Amino acid sequence: MGSNLLNPCPFCASKAAALLTDTEGFSYVECLECGSRGEVVTPQSQPGAALVAWNRRKLVGELLVPTKLLDALETADLNMQAARTIDKGVEAASQFGEALRALYKLLHEVQHDE
Ligand SMILES: [Zn+2]
Repeated sequence: MGSNLLNPCPFCASKAAALLTDTEGFSYVECLECGSRGEVVTPQSQPGAALVAWNRRKLVGELLVPTKLLDALETADLNMQAARTIDKGVEAASQFGEALRALYKLLHEVQHDE
């Protein structure tokens, strides 16, 4: 199995990761640098499912912080700090809440995307 098939570790960015299978036939990808593990897949899973899960994790890591969403959070945060009136503060807090909800929704989807 060529290690070039695996994306770098989502935690330490190491490219040294290995596909491991335990005695029960459960497999997962483990980072040889920091020891983080990808999703454990059952023996009944598609061949390569552990690799797909590991590689998707990296992709998921990138999806977790879409620039647009971070920008929205940052802008709302700055607006809150700069708010001089209660009305402006409430408006900024509402923007912040909206961006947080979008982030939460995204995290929720990613976590349940199996
Ligand atoms: Zn690692």
